[in-house]
Amino acid sequence: MAKIVIDPGHGGHDPGAVGSRSKEKDNVLNVAKRLKTLLEKHGHDVSLTRSTDKFISLSGRASFANQLGADYFVSLHNNSAVNKSATGFETFIYNGSVSKSTKDFQNAVHEEIANNIGIRDRGKKRANFAVLRLTNMAAILIEYAFISNMNDEDILINQVDELAQWTCNGIVKALGGTVKDPVKSPPKEQPTPAPELEPVLRPAPQPQPKPPQNKQPSGNANIKKFQQWLNSQYNSGLVVDGIYGPRTKKAAIKGFQTELNKQFNAGLKVDGIWGPKTRAATVNVYKGAKGNLTKIIQGMLFSKGYDPKFLDGVFGNATATAVLAFQRDNGLTRDAIVGKKTFEKLFA
Ligand SMILES: [Zn+2]
Repeated sequence: MAKIVIDPGHGGHDPGAVGSRSKEKDNVLNVAKRLKTLLEKHGHDVSLTRSTDKFISLSGRASFANQLGADYFVSLHNNSAVNKSATGFETFIYNGSVSKSTKDFQNAVHEEIANNIGIRDRGKKRANFAVLRLTNMAAILIEYAFISNMNDEDILINQVDELAQWTCNGIVKALGGTVKDPVKSPPKEQPTPAPELEPVLRPAPQPQPKPPQNKQPSGNANIKKFQQWLNSQYNSGLVVDGIYGPRTKKAAIKGFQTELNKQFNAGLKVDGIWGPKTRAATVNVYKGAKGNLTKIIQGMLFSKGYDPKFLDGVFGNATATAVLAFQRDNGLTRDAIVGKKTFEKLFA
């Protein structure tokens, strides 16, 4: 059993970073409370520097942990940047001299979250942060994701249980324990596969989507759903016939350009043409992503005869499996990341 202090950053008059739908102080408090419960299930003695929305100074947080005689200190934060495309996960330890257990602690916690969170791993870093400098025990600071990035903020808001679980698992592993009763929730049943593990996930190719259940003799039900969604989301004005043709393709690219403009200020002309500017503005979409870009990917996969199972905007295992099959069949690097080359083939 270890004495662990969890430190949800900010609070009270200090909101921390502010996103379009949430505040850092609330996001990290939600994770902290859940993390406390999970670690207590593993028999650890856990204290929070705050369990309500109140302000505590940085030195106050450190002296709280020091006075308790804690063994570990974990500060939880959300990142932020002016550039809305900035994304990813990173952890920090103090940039002065630190114990080996501090480094081991960072390694284990970082690895566990990085392997699961599904966004860019910005690395294990060191900095002169007050809570890291002033605490006497092994201390890390976690920047889960960017509240300023729409996709990252989705994770911060909607994957509280998962963030807490991965953090708990990392801490438990760092302490040499065994992870128990992991709480996994639907789109994230399994960790993001490392590329070497892909063969395990390799699906049987599914070039023929299931025929629609209703009387319509031609047209595919999933493509119909995609067309309906394009119409409602982007006023595409498509005939909902379940047949993928040039009009549906153009509408999908228009939707894609609209999302790049909205989410990443790409400043693209919404013309439905896959040209060099659109290609250059294309972002990588990873497993774990949620939102309209993922929905467009799913719709395009259905349109190309693959089966991501859902048109729900959640980049889970089924979507990753379909992406891997699509990448294999198109001679692309099979990494389940939808980036420039994969989008290019999807919109070809
Ligand atoms: Zn912060």
